[in-house]
Amino acid sequence: KFPVLLSPIKIGTMEVRNRFVVPPMGTNFANPDGSVSKQLIDYLAARSKGGYGLIIVEVTAIDPLGKAIPWQPGIWDDKFVPGWKELVDEVHKYGAKIVVQLHHAGRQTTHEVIGSQPVAPSPIPCPVDREIPRELTTEEVYDLIEKFGDAAVRARDAGFDGVEVHGAHGYLIAQFMSAYSNKRIDEFGGDLTSRMKFPVDIVKNIRAKVGNGYPIIFRFSGDERVPGGRTIDESRVVAEKMEKAGVNALHVSTGVYGSIPWLIAPSAVPPAYNVYAAEEIKKVVKIPVITVGRINDPNLAEDILEGGKADLVSLGRESIADPELPNKTAAGMINEISPCIGCMQACVGYLFDPKYLKISCLVNPFTGREGELKIEKAAAPKKVVVVGGGPGGLEAAWVAAKKGHKVTVYEKEEVLGGQYRIGAIPPTKQDILKALRYYITMGKKYGVEYKMGVEATEELILEENPDAVILATGGVPLMPNIKGIDNPKFVKAIDVLEGKKEVGMNVLVVGGGMVGVETADFLGEHLHKVTIVEMLPEIAKDEQDAVKYFLLKRLNEYGVKAITGATVKEFLDDGVVCEKDGKEEKIAGFDTVILAMGAKAYNPLEEKIKGKVPELYVIGDAVKARKAVEAIEEGARAAVKI
Ligand code: SF4
Repeated sequence: KFPVLLSPIKIGTMEVRNRFVVPPMGTNFANPDGSVSKQLIDYLAARSKGGYGLIIVEVTAIDPLGKAIPWQPGIWDDKFVPGWKELVDEVHKYGAKIVVQLHHAGRQTTHEVIGSQPVAPSPIPCPVDREIPRELTTEEVYDLIEKFGDAAVRARDAGFDGVEVHGAHGYLIAQFMSAYSNKRIDEFGGDLTSRMKFPVDIVKNIRAKVGNGYPIIFRFSGDERVPGGRTIDESRVVAEKMEKAGVNALHVSTGVYGSIPWLIAPSAVPPAYNVYAAEEIKKVVKIPVITVGRINDPNLAEDILEGGKADLVSLGRESIADPELPNKTAAGMINEISPCIGCMQACVGYLFDPKYLKISCLVNPFTGREGELKIEKAAAPKKVVVVGGGPGGLEAAWVAAKKGHKVTVYEKEEVLGGQYRIGAIPPTKQDILKALRYYITMGKKYGVEYKMGVEATEELILEENPDAVILATGGVPLMPNIKGIDNPKFVKAIDVLEGKKEVGMNVLVVGGGMVGVETADFLGEHLHKVTIVEMLPEIAKDEQDAVKYFLLKRLNEYGVKAITGATVKEFLDDGVVCEKDGKEEKIAGFDTVILAMGAKAYNPLEEKIKGKVPELYVIGDAVKARKAVEAIEEGARAAVKI
């Protein structure tokens, strides 16, 4: 059914078993000194085992001053080679080819990461990292060319099947290539040919040092998506020049840090949004072209290849969400693919969150934890009761069932999914439903029994005589003790999203957290006139930055008004009285007041059954109202323990 996707292809002398590529993505899994860690080996080996044809190791620094993230792997010294060899050997065991991405961040880094001032072609700060970089001298540029070549030699010595030169996403090479960031007047600046001298010389240097047969992939942004940046027209010339310089494949992405929401591409960005760039590049070169960007479905991938738009497809976040996608595709198990929902919470979200720093995945909490969190057959099957069919409960159920336990899920609603199902209703969030279907498919596969429309009570649970109980009863909307809040006319945000309550044209949403703004997004899209009142200085504070970018853009287009830094003191029949900047203010005249003031734990059973069942676990919002990502991880961890 997937004739092109599953067919082999040659990149230079390297034969790849199929067209599935794991593109380079920062994980922070390397050791702090840049050496290879067991975590990185386990993570990539799982993708090789899962059937990916080609794995491209994440941004690997050719110079310590070129690191973009704190725990970025390095290849600037021979000391790294043994670690890389171990990783390459492990990946090779399962049949994937593996290349390493040679990288220098240039200005897209900070003092904090590299311990000194970043360097760049010109002293223009990155619009995100904001540090003024030091302009590289011409001699230093020549020195860096040698460093790329030396790094490629180490890669070859470690057994890598090739290298990828990172000329994309606004990093050092891209900074040289683009008039947007290169204002030099030496031989490395000026017209396109001069701006291309740096990457062309790098490729020639690598070729001279590693010989003719060794595969070199060049990655670049076909469109930088910034004013004054490179567009697809100039990128066609870039592609021709790089083919002529001797690269064996082109990996075409889009964006730079200045257009970072597009680089990160949450669910608001359409699937396969970069394919147009690969398609244009493919028209002007003979070497294979790899496309990338929000491709999370093998049918879509096959369609791209079959249409001649690219030769290979990189599944970035999808490979984070499901290491086994290629094997499942080949076996026709499409329904069992764990889908990336574009939430950005545990991949990019964790990478830049000081509390985590290392990536995982909301849908698949086993990512990055391959060595510690394993689904192993239980010594003896147990009877497991899961109370609550939200994301945490559903994850716990299928994982426990896969271990061989007999699992029953009780859900008081007639339908599974809990808050997660409601979370899929606002614009661009629909992929959440794919994740729910995945959990249920996996549960059914391993024999989970789902009892919907049944509220689990102490008696009912004890009657089952379970060996283990997982309480995943979730949360309920928070109703702070504020005068007038109990007005029966008011409606809860979740009831609006679920279609249980109708609202007027002119609405006030009280609460500007995730639920409040997404309800405003939903209503704005349905042409309501919406005002949000929020206590914090900004709305959508709990949304990931790239998600927020597209969300706020939509709210702006709908004309949604946000009143921030305003504490609600009293509810009126048609609005609220707030305190803002030390003054009381009346915000009223609305047809409907919608409450979205957060959630609190709902855990009515723990105290009742504690000590009466052999094993008891409480997970997710039932412990403390948080996001689905925590509930799902806790569900997996509880199930693995049973
Ligand atoms: Fe996709 Fe969300 Fe997982 Fe990231 S955390 S890979 S965006 S599902």
